[in-house]
Amino acid sequence: MGRLFGTNGIRGIVNQGIDPRFCIEIGSAIGTYFKKRNSLPKIAIGTDARLSNSMLKSAVASGLLSTGCNVTDIGVVPSPVVQYTVKKKGFHAGVIITASHNPPEFNGIKVIAGDGTELPKEIEDKIETIYFNKDIVLADWQEVGIYDQYDDAIDFYKQSLISVIDIDLIKRKKFRVVLDCGGGAGCVIAPKLLSDLGCDVTCLFCKLDGTFSGRNSEPLKENLTELIKMVPQIKADFGVALDGDADRAIFVDENGRYLPGDKTLALVAKYLTKINKGGITVTPVTSSSCVNDVVTKFGGTVIQTAVGSPIVARVMMENKALFGGEENGGLIFPDFQYCRDSIMSILKIMEIIATGEKSLSELIYEIPNYDMFKTKVACPNNIKEFVLKQMQENIGEKTPIKIDKTDGLKMYFKEGWVLVRPSGTEPIFRIFAESDNTKKAENLGFDFIEKIEKIVTQNKN
Ligand code: MG
Repeated sequence: MGRLFGTNGIRGIVNQGIDPRFCIEIGSAIGTYFKKRNSLPKIAIGTDARLSNSMLKSAVASGLLSTGCNVTDIGVVPSPVVQYTVKKKGFHAGVIITASHNPPEFNGIKVIAGDGTELPKEIEDKIETIYFNKDIVLADWQEVGIYDQYDDAIDFYKQSLISVIDIDLIKRKKFRVVLDCGGGAGCVIAPKLLSDLGCDVTCLFCKLDGTFSGRNSEPLKENLTELIKMVPQIKADFGVALDGDADRAIFVDENGRYLPGDKTLALVAKYLTKINKGGITVTPVTSSSCVNDVVTKFGGTVIQTAVGSPIVARVMMENKALFGGEENGGLIFPDFQYCRDSIMSILKIMEIIATGEKSLSELIYEIPNYDMFKTKVACPNNIKEFVLKQMQENIGEKTPIKIDKTDGLKMYFKEGWVLVRPSGTEPIFRIFAESDNTKKAENLGFDFIEKIEKIVTQNKN
């Protein structure tokens, strides 16, 4: 069977794979799945800012309607707004037309469960089966779905958000902020919300832009040069950049220093663990050890999961976690909702700064520093599992202190850890190595590049 759904929904290039015809069919498959479980499913649909959105949204909606699902269009909104609306407004499911941080020629389809979380893999598999087997069940003519619109999703989300945050504390601080929405879906909410919270906001790329002409929509350091330059220039308290569908936020401190996502993850984890005197933080195996250091220091526990935000969210639910997130700036606040939420992340970071007297750079300075080395090694998809098994059976001359097989193979050594994991989407192995200095991290990583290359060469074809 082909795999349509990747780690974060279906993605592809518009009109080369992701075209209206495909969207009608996948919409009908999604509709068939939910219709079987509910006599009259209500499905919300929203999009990010891409040029192809209306075209693809109409097609997916058409497919859903044909199977007898009612569809409510909530417009151009951040992914977390769709997720919150689905959960709180009684929808049975949601669909987001987005390719997150991918280049503008891409688009995608993400399906949301009734509780606002991304669909688990088992359900995606069921939808795929319906799609590939053409098991689509069309409704009788008098039972096709009804299409309507809901215009208050953003206001509703905003009101709910400010009820779970210490708004007065934030307002008193009168933050000066540089906000970089990258032309993505965050534009429809973040600038206004921050000024409502008494912030002096300088906006970069805060007009919806389906071509991402201002900057690449992935908030990587190399894409945020303007933000990094502007923050110290105007003496802002911090800068923040969102990805295309505004589920992830990356911060820049008052000195213009780019903060890797696991630093802010650790900062929030530390704060929440401290005020709650313990609690569980959930994060994938790829995250820095600094998260574990700060959480255990304040009496909490870290659960490591396989890579993928839907997995993190599920494990958080199962373990009643306090907090969770990924090293890419995707933070999950379970008191609000079980999905990555960049807007909530900004407010929480402001709350943390406003609680004390320290600047963002001072707060980050208190988080233990590690250096991570990341690289990749080519490996054909069909031998990935074999290569991983070989690695497990023959780790080599140096015996790890601890081995973790949650996702790939994570080996802890005295000088740091190495993770080798087969990519879920590309014919490569990813290698992550972390230590207290760059050289040691690189050395750890290089060892495993050689090992994998050797096994791959011996077993190709
Ligand atoms: Mg995203």
